[in-house]
Amino acid sequence: MNNDTVKWYDGDAYATEFDATVLAVEEVSDGTGVWLTLDGTLFFPEEGGQSPDRGTIDGCAVTDVQITDGVIRHKVASTGGEDTSCDDGSRFSAGSRVHGRIDWEYRYRNMQMHTGEHIFSGLVHSIFGYDNVGFHLSDRTATMDYNGKISEEQLLELEERANRVITDNREVNAWYASEEELARMSYRSKKVIDGAVRLVEIDGVDLCACCAPHVRKTGEVGCFKLIGWENYKGGVRVSYRCGFRAMEDYGERIALLTKLSQLLSVKTDDLLATVEKLQEERKRLAYELVAKDRAIACSRIEEAAAAYGVSTEADGRAPVSCVLFFDKVDVSLLRYITDEMKARFAGVVCAVIPADDTLTVWRYLIERDGGDVSVWQQTLRERFGAKGGGPKNSVQGSVTAAEPALREVLEALAREA
Ligand SMILES: [Zn+2]
Repeated sequence: MNNDTVKWYDGDAYATEFDATVLAVEEVSDGTGVWLTLDGTLFFPEEGGQSPDRGTIDGCAVTDVQITDGVIRHKVASTGGEDTSCDDGSRFSAGSRVHGRIDWEYRYRNMQMHTGEHIFSGLVHSIFGYDNVGFHLSDRTATMDYNGKISEEQLLELEERANRVITDNREVNAWYASEEELARMSYRSKKVIDGAVRLVEIDGVDLCACCAPHVRKTGEVGCFKLIGWENYKGGVRVSYRCGFRAMEDYGERIALLTKLSQLLSVKTDDLLATVEKLQEERKRLAYELVAKDRAIACSRIEEAAAAYGVSTEADGRAPVSCVLFFDKVDVSLLRYITDEMKARFAGVVCAVIPADDTLTVWRYLIERDGGDVSVWQQTLRERFGAKGGGPKNSVQGSVTAAEPALREVLEALAREA
């Protein structure tokens, strides 16, 4: 006894409306609608990596379509359809007749994308002998995973050839093959199929076992556009778009370029040069900022040293330890700052900078050439839970504390050093 749902889309991929008899109605467990089983359907279910068709049944939105053991179930939402009476699904009952309509725009785009996959994978298979081992087609860019490496140059050549196949406008035929045909013919197959095998042939390009709807002639694919490629599991993952979805992508990219050229007030042709110039400018400014931060830090250190009568190199170093808090600078400058401090102070030098704008988290570097500053680290850890470390003559870390409390503890350490 065969209870399989009749796949009316197999016979005519271009039919959009149908009448069917409801065989079963099940409540969706989360109460969002019902699952309908019909005697036949034009809704292609989620299968072979392709997203299911959208549309309506009796005006209620079909939000999911699944196939299990040949039985196709349609998830019909209790809200969101064009018919406001899509209430709780109680309008559907076994034995009643319903009218289904698939979202043709969505379906046709999937047909273009899917047929494009056959063209490209057929070329890959015949030229390189690789298989498409992973196919993902939903509502935007689709991906195909090939189990062998293909270089950028080869991919672009394949793209060119795929588009030649499209402009050739070759026939695409699908049929359920006899055992004799299957034994005789060599065809691509994504998985082991039991039961009837549906073959899809693109004249001279591809022969593949496939259950999905395709366009009648390759010209309808419109175009095949590679979007990107990356190494993937020892092979390559290729992203692409065909037909209207390629047009949509083209439109999005033009809109993006237009937006960018408006933002930068340049023609789109000048975008690259402008962005390169901005990057250079940014690099130069970052460099200038570091130079400025260094100069400010140095003048703070000179000021502190002058208080001890140390103004020139000839004055030697002030015979004391020194703690200085600086404004926020890049943490990489800490080492430079303590080196400058060591040139002016003979004791322990301690530089502190804020880690953020809250002035409660600080970074510090404490040093004394040939000395031992480990008691500083130990004290900061005990008093404030400071985290950090380093050799005994140079410790660094971060600490969370109010500035006056931190300053008091560090200055006390400096007096004792
Ligand atoms: Zn197919």
